[in-house]
Amino acid sequence: MKLTVLCDNNTIIDCYYLGEPALSFYLEEGDRKILFDTGYSDVFLRNAEKLGIDLSALTAVVISHGHNDHTGGLRYLLNETDLSGVKLIAHPGVFRRRRYEGLEIGAELTAEECREHGLEVIETTEPYRLSEKLIYLGEIPRTVSFEGKTPIGRVLEKGKWRADFIRDDSALCYEGEEGPFVITGCSHSGICNILSYALKLSGKEKASGIIGGFHLLKQDEVLEETAAFLSGHVSKDLYPCHCVSLHAKLALAAKMPVIEIGSGSSLEIL
Ligand SMILES: [Zn+2]
Ligand SMILES: [Zn+2]
Repeated sequence: MKLTVLCDNNTIIDCYYLGEPALSFYLEEGDRKILFDTGYSDVFLRNAEKLGIDLSALTAVVISHGHNDHTGGLRYLLNETDLSGVKLIAHPGVFRRRRYEGLEIGAELTAEECREHGLEVIETTEPYRLSEKLIYLGEIPRTVSFEGKTPIGRVLEKGKWRADFIRDDSALCYEGEEGPFVITGCSHSGICNILSYALKLSGKEKASGIIGGFHLLKQDEVLEETAAFLSGHVSKDLYPCHCVSLHAKLALAAKMPVIEIGSGSSLEIL
């Protein structure tokens, strides 16, 4: 499977693609062409154009969670591209309104508005198989003691604004020859929780790698415990991006190979 970074916070020297503090990946596996998250604006569309990627040929769209740095590009995509009949897979919580310090930070479009644009919206908390090897994980069980317990702002649920633990935060797992490979958005549910669940579903003890946001921004005990956990459960490389601070990357790199990526990067996942 080939993964191309359509949008990340980072840009790479001599690679003239746009960046923004957001995330979007494009996945090609045989005849499946899957968009994972849409960034904050139309940046991912401009980068896709320059990369020669035709998003009108998408076979599925997957949303990792509802924050606007992962869903904001959806309206640009639907305004520019006819995706009638294409599946959009997301946890039902993705479409809830969210607020943080007075700002609306949730998805701009509702599930109904996506349907009006012709998408076949599949809202599920369960794992959903996108192909024989690629699985959307659904709601992530929070089993690891040290993560996934801090709310960010508030979410509107059943008419009430509640502390937002971002239950909708999910990820993908590609069951490759080298082992499971995990693809994350922001990992609000906890990168170790996501990895644990992907390993449980695939019946393997180690993943070959992880790419995406790990939501590691502080220098604290959680970072140390996370670095130890990942080095024990990932056999090859980490590609942390988007919401991973420099000191978090350094802490991870002290224990295992860490590879820098940015807008326009691509990798073959075996
Ligand atoms: Zn987020
Ligand atoms: Zn994010």
